[in-house]
Amino acid sequence: MLMSAADYRESLRAYSPRVFINGKRVTSVADEPLLAPGIAGVGVTYDFAHIDAHKPIMTARQGTSGKIVNRMLHINETAQDLLSKLEAVRLVCKTSGCAQRYLTHDALNGIFQATKLADGRHGTDYSQRFLAYMHDIQDRDLTLGVAMTDAKGDRSKRPGQQLNRDVYVHIKEHRKDGIVIRGTKAIVTGAPYMHEFLVMPCRTHTPEDSHFAVCCAVPCDAPGVTIVARPAGRSGEAAATFSAKYGQSVGVVMFDDVFVPHERVFMAGETEEAGFLTTSYATHHRHSCIGARAGFGDLLIGAGALMIEANGLDAERHGHIRDQMVELITITEGFYACGVASSVYCTTDPAGSVMPDAVFSNIGKLLLATKIYDMHRIAHYVSGGLIVALPGPDEDHNPETKASLAAVMGGRADIPAEQRAEVARFIEDLTISDQAGWYSVISLHGGGSPEAMKREIWRNYPVMEKVELVESLLDRGILDQGQRVSRQPGRCCATGCEVPTPHQIPEKASIERSAK
Ligand SMILES: Cc1cc2nc3c(=O)[nH]c(=O)nc-3n(C[C@H](O)[C@H](O)[C@H](O)COP(=O)(O)OP(=O)(O)OC[C@H]3O[C@@H](n4cnc5c(N)ncnc54)[C@H](O)[C@@H]3O)c2cc1C
Repeated sequence: MLMSAADYRESLRAYSPRVFINGKRVTSVADEPLLAPGIAGVGVTYDFAHIDAHKPIMTARQGTSGKIVNRMLHINETAQDLLSKLEAVRLVCKTSGCAQRYLTHDALNGIFQATKLADGRHGTDYSQRFLAYMHDIQDRDLTLGVAMTDAKGDRSKRPGQQLNRDVYVHIKEHRKDGIVIRGTKAIVTGAPYMHEFLVMPCRTHTPEDSHFAVCCAVPCDAPGVTIVARPAGRSGEAAATFSAKYGQSVGVVMFDDVFVPHERVFMAGETEEAGFLTTSYATHHRHSCIGARAGFGDLLIGAGALMIEANGLDAERHGHIRDQMVELITITEGFYACGVASSVYCTTDPAGSVMPDAVFSNIGKLLLATKIYDMHRIAHYVSGGLIVALPGPDEDHNPETKASLAAVMGGRADIPAEQRAEVARFIEDLTISDQAGWYSVISLHGGGSPEAMKREIWRNYPVMEKVELVESLLDRGILDQGQRVSRQPGRCCATGCEVPTPHQIPEKASIERSAK
């Protein structure tokens, strides 16, 4: 069953999670105005699966069940699947800013691979459990929060060295019928309006820390789960032209002795495979982040062009303005192209699914992580100071100032001042407000901080292939400009003169030479 956005919102009523926002308990998540922009954002992934034009990318046939599922719950089997997912993420994010649900997708794909790996090595039955769980989630079309990033405590210490063990989620107890987990996941997008959480490790663990290597599924309202969240977007703010409607909440999720039955446990102590899960999720997720931020780029490109027009300028005629727009396009499509390359050069995993190419996926994410700040700068450059100077929306209804402001605050004569103001507020919302800061920080740190991507690029890039390439060129003399001494024995140059060996040089001659 594919739900609509309205069905999704209604479905949240079946749960009663313990949620706090701004120091107050939320009594009904579905009705909480402070969460409405987040629920609407996730809702886009539901509604778009029903629109004929979007169905090819928003839905897919799940190979293991043969059923049509939402793209955000699908296990990729081909490069085309990855391309469709990338486009789908871009589509839902250019509509909603961030639709969260691609995280569900990334976690399902990572766990699918890791459970098969663990079973193959340890004879466990995790993949069978996971498949049954995933099919149920797909059938009910649910949304799962990714509870991966632990609170971590002192970053220089491993989990087992922390003063307070609860800064990492860990297995506190093994029972006959399941495990008991406790600890804190610090940053979970959409936490208050998720149906369930997928708990996963956020780093590799040593064998001594094996109880931190845990992956399992926990309903949002399981006894012992507490969610302390920030409001989603800028609910109720008149100036928030975009993020009053769409924007994600982020929450801290605390697990206080939460019992998880065996059928929901997908990893419990297998440190190597849990490490594999962390990186495989990260690769899927960074691939998705590329689509998400390309969607954000689409919003800025469109808004920038409208602002230029409203200011009475023409990018065609004003070269410095055009240059900025071209830079914005180059940034956006540059990192998106990495996502395309990552899809096309995917590899087939032994589990039967496909994995985006790690180098391109990480390069794309690294680019967007740092270029997000340039994207904001460009939007500011082409807009001018209006985006921070424009009087607030209440002034739009002030009989004493409305007309005189409208008369002088316009730009191009045929574009009403209100339209110019609307675009200016849109750019302010996305690049200056606290919601704008959210987009910067999720780009920089979401899916791992830049250093994590750099390590993955260095780890996966075939540097030795390039070394061998250049060595072979040097050995064949292709790069020889007459000065190179070959390291091949018996050859001093590409044409191969004989190198005199020491015993061929008469001792006398050598003495004479040195005497001179
Ligand atoms: C808006 C937003 C939404 C997010 N959504 C989710 C989500 O839904 N689910 C989820 O699980 N996570 C989510 N994340 C978390 C994201 O994955 C983390 O922010 C990221 O992994 C970095 O972790 P951190 O925030 O704890 O920063 P830190 O790990 O504290 O990193 C801060 C800086 O310190 C450096 N650093 C950290 N440790 C070390 C060390 N030992 N040695 C040297 N340098 C170090 C890092 O490289 C970085 O530069 C989200 C993040 C954001 C910002």
